[in-house]
Parts: sequence; structure tokens; C-alpha cells
Amino acid sequence: MARRISIFGATGSIGQSTIDLIARDLNAYDVVAVTGGQNVSRLAADAIKVNAQVAVTADESRFSDLKDALSGTDIEVAAGREALIEAACRPADWVMSAIVGAAGLEPGLKALETGAVLALANKESLVCAGPLIMRTAQAHGTEILPVDSEHSAVFQAMIGEDLSAVERVIITASGGAFRDWPIEDLAKATPAQAATHPNWDMGQRITIDSASMFNKALELIETKEYFGISPDKIETVVHPESMIHALVGFNDGALMAHVGAPDMRHAIGFALHYPTRKPLPVERLDLVKLGQMTFRNPCETRWPALRLAREVMMAGGLMGAVFNAAKERALDAFIQERITFPRMAGVVEDVLSDLSTYEGHNPAEITLDKVAEADHLARIRADEIMAR
Ligand code: NAD
Ligand code: MG
Repeated sequence: MARRISIFGATGSIGQSTIDLIARDLNAYDVVAVTGGQNVSRLAADAIKVNAQVAVTADESRFSDLKDALSGTDIEVAAGREALIEAACRPADWVMSAIVGAAGLEPGLKALETGAVLALANKESLVCAGPLIMRTAQAHGTEILPVDSEHSAVFQAMIGEDLSAVERVIITASGGAFRDWPIEDLAKATPAQAATHPNWDMGQRITIDSASMFNKALELIETKEYFGISPDKIETVVHPESMIHALVGFNDGALMAHVGAPDMRHAIGFALHYPTRKPLPVERLDLVKLGQMTFRNPCETRWPALRLAREVMMAGGLMGAVFNAAKERALDAFIQERITFPRMAGVVEDVLSDLSTYEGHNPAEITLDKVAEADHLARIRADEIMAR
């Protein structure tokens, strides 16, 4: 029987790579929902390509454009936040969560509640509501498979291992666009410069977050929440070639690494075919051609987001939601050229200290409403700080 799958954030970078993989073997899949935002022509083309039951644009004002683009097909058309949530409640076996930002949390939770396996690219879900999302998967007898290259790497390195023997997890970072810039020049960095990644082809927001290492900060928190590893065992190393995605260190000194070309179809394909492995259309590495792999210390003066991530991991509670929301607002402001690149970390740090009352919330009592409240107040506080 064909597997029922849905793709949330189908028009984005992860969504497009997911469609690329499933379009190679359409007979194996029965596509339930594909969703997008403003790019309704791409959404419509993909809905037709994969013969989806329903196409949803999150942007209500684009409903008639999507309807026009899909006229003459029997694909259902819907728009708006409620329609997105409704699509997430439709039974599916495997759901790709690839919306960017905290907006991706609720659709993922709804999908888990139907018992679907959640392929989780939306790292913000774990950062904002780690205990809630992990608990929801468990309560509905299903699982979450990580679709961040680093976390897929850690997951793969841990298969068949005794987890109590894990001594440390090392998450690699490319260093992003400004890795080699003099620190004093960062205040002059433009959004276009920050949105150019040396190795990965990704959405605009995550690419800028790579330059600031807010992306790595989110990933450190994601590691703690997903694998239940204590913060003192999670390390970062700058690895400019982006060939090793993560390493797991065991108590006998062995380090298990996942090595592969920087192509998200590795992690997406692994989650799609898990627990089996199937051939993937990714580059096979020629190690001799590659020649060498290098590593550097992650400088916290250049990348203060790494220090903030440690503070957030130690604080626990709802501080992840506060951190992510403040970061999203600061990133919006940088993209709109209202604040400088280095100012983003300053804004986030100030919001964290102003909203420290969200520390220490009992993880078992974290609900979607509480996450939404912390997220909302952090956005307001970030805006107030930036307006000063
Ligand atoms: P993207 O910007 O390319 O695509 C985002 C998708 O989400 C689009 O389909 C967009 O229409 C949709 N979207 C945006 N805002 C929305 C909203 N408010 N409501 C509903 N839909 C909305 O982003 P991306 O690079 O594909 O990243 C998606 C997620 O995957 C992010 O959480 C990112 O951190 C994570 N991730 C991405 C990569 C990568 O290589 N791109 C790697 C690891 C993790
Ligand atoms: Mg990553």
C-alpha cells in the first residue's frame, strides 16, 4: 500500500528537496497535503506534480490565486492558519515539518496526535517546546525523526549503541558567511551578505542564522531536547568544509562521525526510508579530491549566540521559546535593516534577562498555550528594546 505523506512548508528549501525525493518514486506515496506561503504558483505546480489531495497556502489573501492555479484539477484548495491546522489533522503515515519558525510547532503537534511519524526539520519546535513535542510523540505511540543534518548524523551514529556510554556529542558548524571577516567589520554586514552560505543552499532566514550562529545555538538546544543529553556534554566545533555533520564520542574514546556532502537529501532521505536505507541521489564523496578537513575553535566573541544557547539550556523552562521568539524578531529587524548584524545578539540577550521568570517551568507542565504566551511576550519585549 502506498504510504500517506504530507509536506508542511513544501515550497521552501527543505520542502523542495523532499518533493524531489518523493517525485522519483511517486507510486510509493499517496500525498495527502502540501502547504506553502506566498509562492502559490510553486505550490500549485508541486501539488499537481505529486497529485496531492489538498494544497494549503498559509496566506489567506492568496486563496483565489491558488484556486485559479489549480482550477481544472481535483485538488482541494484551502488557505489560512486554520486550514493549515486542519490539514495537519488529516491521517498520514509520515509528515515533513518544514515550515520555518515557531509557526511550524502546532502543525507538527497535530500531526503527532494523529499518530503520524514526524520528520522534523522545523528545529524551532524542539527549541520552543521540546518536552511537549517529545511527550506528544510518546503519548500517541509514534516517533520524531530529526531532519537537521547534525541531528540526523547524531541519530545515525547512535543506532545500536548503549546510550549510557555516550560521553559527548560534537555538533559541527560551517561558520557561515562571516567566518573569516574581521570582527569589527560585522557592524557593516548587510542582509544580502549574511544570506550567502559558503556550503549549504538553504532558506534566507536559516542562512543568516548560520552567519550569526543563532542556527547553531538552536541546534545545541535541539540536541539537548531531542536526545536528552546534558548541556555539558554538547560541544561545537567550526568545520569550514561541512563534510562531517556531527560526531558522537563514547566512553572508550571512540568518535563516530557522519560524513557526507552538504545536501539535505541525506537527512530527508534517511528519515523517509527509516528504518531501512535506500539509494539516494546525493554526491558520493571523493576523499582524495577533498584532500583535508579542518577544524577551529568557535569564538564566542564573534558568535555570542553560542554563549546564549548554553544559558538557555541551563535555564530550561520556557526560555527556549523566549530565545527563539526574540531571535525571530531581531532577525526580522536585521533583514529590514533596522538593526545591525551584531545587535541581534544584544537584543536577544536583553530579552532573556528581562523574561527570566520563564526559567524553571516544570517541563511536564509545558503546554502550547504557555509556549504561545512566552513567545508573544518575548516578541513584544524585543520590539520595545529595538524601539529604544
Ligand atoms: P524556507 O524559508 O526555504 O521555507 C519555509 C517554508 O515555510 C515555505 O514553504 C514557506 O512558505 C513556509 N512558511 C513560512 N512562514 C510560514 C508561516 N507563518 N505559516 C506557514 N508556513 C510558513 O525554509 P527552509 O530553509 O526550508 O527551512 C525550513 C525549516 O527547516 C526551518 O525550521 C529550518 O531551520 C529547518 N532546516 C532547514 C535546513 C535547510 O537546509 N534549508 C536544514 C536544517 C533545518
Ligand atoms: Mg543544521
